[in-house]
Amino acid sequence: MADLTTLIELSRSFGADPNFTLLGGGNTSYKEGPRLYVKASGVYLKDLDESQVVVMDQDKLKSIWSRSYPAETAPREAEVLKDILSARLPGQTIRPSVEALFHSFIKGAYVIHTHPALINGFTCGREGEAALEELFEGEALWIPLMEPGYILAGEAKKRIEAFEQTRRRYPRFIFLQNHGIFVPGENREEILALHKELWERCLSRINRVPEARTRPLPPESLGDFQKEAVRVFGEPYVLAGSENGDILEAAQSPGAFAPLEIAYTPDHLFYAGVGPCYLTGPGDLAGAAAAFRKRWERDPVSFIVKDLGALGGGKTPKAAEESLLLIEDAVKIKVYAESAGGVQPLTPRIIQFVLNWEAEKYKKAAMESEAKK
Ligand SMILES: [Zn+2]
Repeated sequence: MADLTTLIELSRSFGADPNFTLLGGGNTSYKEGPRLYVKASGVYLKDLDESQVVVMDQDKLKSIWSRSYPAETAPREAEVLKDILSARLPGQTIRPSVEALFHSFIKGAYVIHTHPALINGFTCGREGEAALEELFEGEALWIPLMEPGYILAGEAKKRIEAFEQTRRRYPRFIFLQNHGIFVPGENREEILALHKELWERCLSRINRVPEARTRPLPPESLGDFQKEAVRVFGEPYVLAGSENGDILEAAQSPGAFAPLEIAYTPDHLFYAGVGPCYLTGPGDLAGAAAAFRKRWERDPVSFIVKDLGALGGGKTPKAAEESLLLIEDAVKIKVYAESAGGVQPLTPRIIQFVLNWEAEKYKKAAMESEAKK
């Protein structure tokens, strides 16, 4: 039988492994009879404790699929959220992960959901679906990119059922395009063995592995950018920077940078914005920011600078570091994706959906209030 101690142990170990988890990415759950225990929204897997696990009623969660909801996005997501929240056991007050619905219907005592760069090299690769089908010999399921929330969860549920019917087995790995992976397992050993297999098989297909580390940029090399950023974005404004061979290669020219222009996954959107701006020096910042604002109606928070490296920006050092971390992650995904037909970013329609999605705004607010404590 699954238990909370094992869930917390697994969550912390995947949460503390930078190959699998960055910042608040990923979520986990376990099932015990009619109960689902799922990570709360806005908390870090690496620090998960008992008070951050939401206990939910599986029958109530299941009943969501027999209801009908408005076709229009905002009222639909609001009603689904209301039903998800009312599926919590009495006395439960915290909000479950935005992916709680997936955890509810994916079969497996434990379900681990992460967004690893290696795996996203495939989920963001133009030929990722075909590569994974071949690598996992028909035991993996691919869920195409669509609006997250109720629509994506419903489609995933349907595709899992269809997979079971046609292939006469349950998918061992469930890949979400431009997002990450769900791995179900019956116990700790199985979860660990599946992730080991996942890692080894995916790595076996990679022709060029990205550099594992980056070097921080010295503060003196950021001085002029810092001054210009304050002038363009207002005070306070903080920049953090790093470089390595892969980043500098992408910074060589607008053409080399082009594959990084648009965010790859909701995680990148969440922390590093719609995409980095390409700069050849501090003098480009104002113009690039104006063009970015015109296109996306918001300020850029990340930059790739020719002959310098990557910059993350924000109102606090924490925001700047987080943005930088996700740009570094995007560079890794870009390199991995070279082995899967080259990278394919999120579409403008999905980007607009995620930016306006109440669930993501909630997560951001929850993380900001947690950071202030
Ligand atoms: Zn996710």
